Amino acid sequence: MAKWDCIIVGTGPAGLGAAFALKKSKPDHKILIIDKEQYSTGGLRNDCKMNFNFPIGFPIEYWNKESAEYYLAQVTEILKPPIMDKYRLDVYQKRAEKLNVTLLNIKQSHLGTDGGLKLIKELVSTLKEKGVEFSLGEEVKNVADNNILITEKREIEYKNLIVAPGRKGFKFLQNIMNTMDIPYSDNSIDIGIRIELHEALYPIVKDYYDPKFIFPEKVRTFCTNSKAAYVVQEKYISNDGVEYFSVNGHAWSDVSKVNNLANFAILKTFKLTEPVASGQKFAEIIGLQANLCGGGHPIMQRVGDFRMGKRSKVETFNDDLYDLKPTLKSCTPGDISLVVPYKIMKSIWMSMKLLDTIIPGILHPSTIMYYPEIKMYGNKPVFIDDNFQAKKNIYLVGDGAGTSRGITGAWASGIRAAEGILKS
Ligand SMILES: Cc1cc2nc3c(=O)[nH]c(=O)nc-3n(C[C@H](O)[C@H](O)[C@H](O)COP(=O)(O)OP(=O)(O)OC[C@H]3O[C@@H](n4cnc5c(N)ncnc54)[C@H](O)[C@@H]3O)c2cc1C
Repeated sequence: MAKWDCIIVGTGPAGLGAAFALKKSKPDHKILIIDKEQYSTGGLRNDCKMNFNFPIGFPIEYWNKESAEYYLAQVTEILKPPIMDKYRLDVYQKRAEKLNVTLLNIKQSHLGTDGGLKLIKELVSTLKEKGVEFSLGEEVKNVADNNILITEKREIEYKNLIVAPGRKGFKFLQNIMNTMDIPYSDNSIDIGIRIELHEALYPIVKDYYDPKFIFPEKVRTFCTNSKAAYVVQEKYISNDGVEYFSVNGHAWSDVSKVNNLANFAILKTFKLTEPVASGQKFAEIIGLQANLCGGGHPIMQRVGDFRMGKRSKVETFNDDLYDLKPTLKSCTPGDISLVVPYKIMKSIWMSMKLLDTIIPGILHPSTIMYYPEIKMYGNKPVFIDDNFQAKKNIYLVGDGAGTSRGITGAWASGIRAAEGILKS
């Protein structure tokens, strides 16, 4: 007899959302959450900007407005987000509409990286009080027949399994799908650049913390940070074991870290069709190529240099005439036009021009463009029901499985899997 009613792999928002939902309906449910990291919990550690409107973070192939709102109400109940005010939205929206650009009006909360850590502590201690067990620093390797989960340390029997390994766990998820003969299809990918600039050149952030602009050609702004904002790099390992980095951004709520900068991504979404089999592989090659040209790091270039068609150099950033030093110092000054595919660069540059017309500033020569920012999602499992069950008693959720693209969507998809378990 399995000791665990449910084992959850991953302490990110999808895993936690599932645990809260299971405990709410079945307080006696025996739940074990495993994470390979020594600490909890996934992407809540990064900036913790939460969006509370469909379709932000909710892939439309799995969600509609009604279902997202139904689950968001439950997410709100647990996370109790302080929603931020917005100002002058109508002004920005009017300017955007004229250019065929949409500015979405999204309910947002922002805790910052430090605020996120505080929230995590509270959530984990609440779950522990409810009897949920955590095993941190234990990597799950695969799943075997007869409801057995294989970790690096042991084999554990489960009645139900929720796998929520996040975007970085897409290879592990792929392993499970291969082992369990779960069919899948290729997922879309997002590729783009991260912009860093003086907050004064992007003043909308004082009115709307993370403005979501949707441009033509499937381009959008994503993950805006300001006030105490920093660009970071994330490590990925390619299929052939080569290390490369993608950029990202976050902000602190701590006033001692204020730098009055802003950063945000401009991403283009696309899905490859035949004969190219894997969007992930394509994205990986793009990442590797950029890192090759950057000597093992992402590339950064001033907008001023980009416009002049010349590379940025170390001196460009050292003898900075604009008083804007890059916050991600390990990036290599270079020429992103050498490595960004034409179609992506064309759409992004057009979007930057549109944005500069809506909020004049981002095309200032000092603005820094970091490349690459890549969002890869695992291959999409073919689910056997609406609760993200991919094989009997195995549920695949969160960003890794492509059922979400953000904290709130991940949490909601965890709840949806929990509901499936409760139904069965
Ligand atoms: C720098 C950065 C900033 C971000 N900022 C925001 C933001 O402000 N707002 C927002 O909505 N989203 C943000 N995101 C995205 C957000 O983090 C994700 O959408 C969200 O965390 C996805 O949740 P998840 O539960 O699916 O996966 P994750 O949060 O990634 O959690 C997955 C967990 O599974 C564990 N795991 C993976 N493989 C295994 C294994 N084999 N065995 C055991 N454990 C495993 C991982 O260690 C991890 O803890 C950001 C992401 C990054 C990287």
